[in-house]
Amino acid sequence: MEKLIRGWLMASVALASLVTSPARAIAGDLKLTVVIYDHAHVNAETLRAAENTTSEIFGRAGVQVVWREGFAYAAERRNVLNPPPEDPATLIVKLQPESETARYGVASVCGGLGFASGAIVFVRRFDVVWLGYIMAHELGHILLGPNAHSVVGIMRGTLRNEDWEKAAQGTLVFTRLQNQQIRTRIDERGRR
Ligand SMILES: [Zn+2]
Repeated sequence: MEKLIRGWLMASVALASLVTSPARAIAGDLKLTVVIYDHAHVNAETLRAAENTTSEIFGRAGVQVVWREGFAYAAERRNVLNPPPEDPATLIVKLQPESETARYGVASVCGGLGFASGAIVFVRRFDVVWLGYIMAHELGHILLGPNAHSVVGIMRGTLRNEDWEKAAQGTLVFTRLQNQQIRTRIDERGRR
């Protein structure tokens, strides 16, 4: 009997994967690895909360964020003789204390800098609550480009009080078009 049940279970699993595979391109199937180097020494709880916020925002785009702690990630890749191929959809985020802003010699209007190679988020002591939104915004720059500011949503150049009210309600997210573009960019990276 047990054998029968096990066989039936395995058949169901096989069937489920057959049924779900055509839907692969629809939702929640894209994965983005974000390697985060915390040079700003944000406390662990704040960082976790920020990661959750960013994950939720990308979740709305159908993208699952996999977080990796930077120093551990780098050490792991150094130690292994043949490191596993890096996920092509891997983005680097460095958290820097706000006092480091000047060192980069570039004006930041939106709390950080996003380049094709990675993003820097300047952490201000008073706005750690919003860290997740700023991280999502800067990750948005990596994927959508340096000129990706929009008039509404999380990619607004300067987030205002009304945006933070939306944030509190969980509705400060990428626009529908940005969500599509993000999915396309991640998909392209995955194919490289
Ligand atoms: Zn920006």
